Amino acid sequence: MQRRNVLMSGAALLAAAVGTNFFGPRRAASAEDDYPISMTPDEWRRKLNAEQFAVLRQEATERPFSSALNSNKKAGVYHCAGCDNAVYSSDAKFDSGTGWPSFWQPVNSEAVGSRTDYKLIYPRTEVHCADCGGHLGHVFDDGPEPTGKRHCINGVALVFRRADGA
Ligand SMILES: [Zn+2]
Repeated sequence: MQRRNVLMSGAALLAAAVGTNFFGPRRAASAEDDYPISMTPDEWRRKLNAEQFAVLRQEATERPFSSALNSNKKAGVYHCAGCDNAVYSSDAKFDSGTGWPSFWQPVNSEAVGSRTDYKLIYPRTEVHCADCGGHLGHVFDDGPEPTGKRHCINGVALVFRRADGA
């Protein structure tokens, strides 16, 4: 009995550790989830092109260096391609050399949410739009200061708006 209690508390600790997010409550990016903007998969298919749907709603990953936004250095704000929520600013964009648009922080702490994803052998932190749940990419701990975070984002999930409105 003693040993069983120890094992169970160990499991509880592990569950708590993997459920920990960098920011925001733990959420899964699925159609059933309770996001401010919610649509059925068919509705999303009509709104998005095939590449956007695959990334935002099915968590696909675009090919590296395939997005023009990867090398975009203009000043402006990157919005979610699903719902237009502002998610990243050019102020936090950096060239990670990975082939995906990379940011060291979201535009604000409310813009995106994250959860642990086990699609690969090792757990990764998935990041999604806080308003529609659309999958944006992943967050890694090898980013630059001051956060040390690298938000590795699919360009197809973003719409860029220049600061000067051009
Ligand atoms: Zn969105």
